[in-house]
Amino acid sequence: MSTYGFGVQKHDGKGVFTNLEGGLESAHCPACGKDVERYFYDMVSDWYEADGFPPVKCPLCGAASDIRNYRLDPLWEFSRIGFEFWNMGPLTPEFVEEFTAMPGEPVRVVRAHI
Ligand SMILES: [Zn+2]
Repeated sequence: MSTYGFGVQKHDGKGVFTNLEGGLESAHCPACGKDVERYFYDMVSDWYEADGFPPVKCPLCGAASDIRNYRLDPLWEFSRIGFEFWNMGPLTPEFVEEFTAMPGEPVRVVRAHI
């Protein structure tokens, strides 16, 4: 039995939208390009606990970057709001483009599996 539906996750502070199962395969620093995946969970935790939206320091090169600029595989997103589509098939590029125009903010598709 599958669940189908649509949901909205709104966070007063910060939201972290992950792929759920499987975790990250890589997390590349936007400054030095090195993979910091083994540190990234602690980096996200520190960022989440900090006040505001501070830049996140790379443990390898020391550069501080917006957490959204780390290149993550699979993609995660950091936002105050997320829209969830459960078991509604692949979201077509046309749908994503049309949906992205509505909030007036950048939108990225995070694929999650339970
Ligand atoms: Zn770096």
